[in-house]
This record gives sequence, C-alpha cells and structure tokens, in this order.
Amino acid sequence: MSSVIPPVDWIDSQAQRMLELVEHWANINSASDNLEGLGQMDALLSDAFSPLGGQMKLIDLPPRQIIDSSGQVVQKPLGRALSIIKRPDAALRVFLGIHMDTVYGLDQPFQTTQRLGTSTLRGPGVADAKSGIVVMLVALEALERSDVADFMGWEVLINPDEELGSPGSTPLLIQCAKRNHLGFVFEPTLADGSLAGQRKGSGNFTVVVRGRSAHAGREFHLGSNAITATADVITQLDAINGRFEGLTINIAQVEGGGPLNMVPKLAICRLNVRYDDAEQEGIVQSKLEEIVRQLEERNSIRAEWHGGFTAPPKPLDEPTLHLLEHVAHCGRDLGINVTWRSTGGVCDGNRLAAAGLPNVDTMGVRGGNIHSPNEYLLIESLTERVKHAALLLMKLASGQVTWPKKGNTGLMNS
Ligand SMILES: [Zn+2]
Repeated sequence: MSSVIPPVDWIDSQAQRMLELVEHWANINSASDNLEGLGQMDALLSDAFSPLGGQMKLIDLPPRQIIDSSGQVVQKPLGRALSIIKRPDAALRVFLGIHMDTVYGLDQPFQTTQRLGTSTLRGPGVADAKSGIVVMLVALEALERSDVADFMGWEVLINPDEELGSPGSTPLLIQCAKRNHLGFVFEPTLADGSLAGQRKGSGNFTVVVRGRSAHAGREFHLGSNAITATADVITQLDAINGRFEGLTINIAQVEGGGPLNMVPKLAICRLNVRYDDAEQEGIVQSKLEEIVRQLEERNSIRAEWHGGFTAPPKPLDEPTLHLLEHVAHCGRDLGINVTWRSTGGVCDGNRLAAAGLPNVDTMGVRGGNIHSPNEYLLIESLTERVKHAALLLMKLASGQVTWPKKGNTGLMNS
C-alpha cells in the first residue's frame, strides 16, 4: 500500500470547532462525584461520537467504597462509562481511551474557561482531559475519512472515575486490554511537552484507629487516645521513606478528635504510596499489618486498614518502547520532536499495561498546571496532536507501521 498522507488541511479546518468543543465541555463541571454533570457529558459525548458509527453504549459502574469520617465503609455511586466498538473483527484492533471526570468539585471557585490571548485557554480540565477527548474524537474522524479505515478496528472507552483511580472502570479497562492489540490514552503530555515513558505505581490506604473516650480531667486514666496511637502509625509509615529506592509514602490527611476536655476515641489517617516495583507492594502491606497488630496489643485500641494498590507500575518494557518509537517516528514525519521520560504520576495507561496492553498514554494536548486553578491548554497543540494521532492510526491501518497481532485472545474468546 502506498504511503499514507494525513489530512492536514482538513484537520487545520477543524481548529475553531475543536477549541469551542473544549470550552463547551470544560465549562460543564464533571467532577468524579458530580453525577449530574457526568450525565450531561454522557449525552454530549454520545452525540459527538455517534457519527463515527460503531456500537455505542453507556455502561453503569458499580459503586466505589470509601471510608467516611466516622471510620465506616460506605458506598458512593459513580457515573457511567461510554464505550464504542467499531470493526471488532478487524485483524488489528486499537484501543483509545481517556476520562471525562475532573478533580474540580462543585464547591471550588475554578469552574469556567478563559481565553488568555490567542495561544492559551485556562480552565478546569482543559488539559486533563477534556481536550484529550476532543483530540481522540477528531483523530478518529480523520481516520474514518481516509480509505485505510476499513483495515483497522478500534475501541473507545471514556470513563467517569479516573481521577479516583478508576475504581469502577478498571474491570472495563482490563476487558479492553484483552480485546485490543495496542492502545493510546489521551492524557496531556508532561509539563515540558515530553511523553510519559515509565510510570510509578500508586496505592491509597486508610488506617482507622479507635480508642476509648473519657473526661480529660476527671477520668483521663480511663481513656485511650486514638490520636496519639495514630501518631505512632504515621511515624512508623513515614520512616519507610528513603529506605527503598523509588518507594514513597505520603501521609496526606489526618482527621479525628473533638472537644479539648475529652480523650479522643477515633482518628483516621489517609495516605498515598508511590513505588517503582511491584515487589514493593509487599513491604507496605506487611508494615500496615505489623502496625495494626502492635496497636491491637495496646489496651483498648483497635485498628484496621483499608485500601490497596490501584495502579501497578508501568515499566518501559520492550513493547511499550517499540510503540513509543512508532509515535516518535510519526512525530518526525510531521516535524514534531517527540521525547519521553519517566514520571511518578499514574493513569489508566498503568492499568492497561498491567492487563497486557502496550500503550502510550500521553497522546493528549500540551498544557500545564493540571489539578490546580491555573490549569491551561496550549491551543495550537490541539491540531498538532490530532495530526500526530491521525497519522499514527492511518499508518497502523495501512500496515505501514506493523504491530504483532499474536498473543492476543481476540474479541471472540475474551
Ligand atoms: Zn487525567
């Protein structure tokens, strides 16, 4: 097959529409727990993607479990995921995904977009990852307009819970990983414009410590202080920092206590773990077990830990490197210099890789200050990234870039 040419002029003609789509979608609050806003996104995304054809469905997710401020396990509902599958019988099947949720709750002041000159758009989710959805959409439109589209199957998943660690959509991501040969996730690039290579793993844990309350003056000796016991927990966990290469524990939140004349009976500590190597999971888990056991030996203290590892480390293994090299090669064809480096951040690319799907997970826009009230998108990167992704998809479809199809269970037997 002759060499494919990306429809550069057509993509350039979409620049204004793309910017307006990002603004429209970013001005809808779709925090991970704002089910109403996520529902609005479901409807808008269904409309935007339906002209591409394929089998589209909205999938309900099971609720996630959280530990509330009274130390109880409670269920919290999640939004729905949008799935589209096109040409599932094609010999080569590519997964494309990104999330529709953001980290900005309804209670935060950062709710609307603002154009800063012609180059920059500031707003909630403009980089992470509303514009990633737009890039994915227009790249697929470009593919479907080309005459090589028939040679490639694709599957899209837009999930509503990635910013929570994809608690409800991870099983869907695992199915996607099994049905496809390679994947692209449209998270924004790292702040310096490079792509993510190796990623750390991440885990979230909550330690609940219960003691016994008593009057601080009359019966202090009858009390059992949950806060001081939790202080021990914190010191012991923090002492792990610096002892194992790449393993860090961030004690992120502590709550508990009450009136000053009362021995506190409840304290809750929440923490995040980042690590390089799956074997380090055991270090953290056995430390948590040990701490809980030690506390239980104390008079009137009960302790328990909840949580787990939500994103396994994503190593820069041979298939990932191979795919990154294809991405870099397509970039060079377009005059874009593509580099990658490792990061401590995690995303669905970790979960897909752990389920066996080689993927490049920073195919979204260039921008920065994500998860802050100064999040911005560099507007020119919208068309740049669509050209890049479209060329890559077209080269894969045409066979100009080959990808091994062996070792995949395929749609029929997954
Ligand atoms: Zn993101």
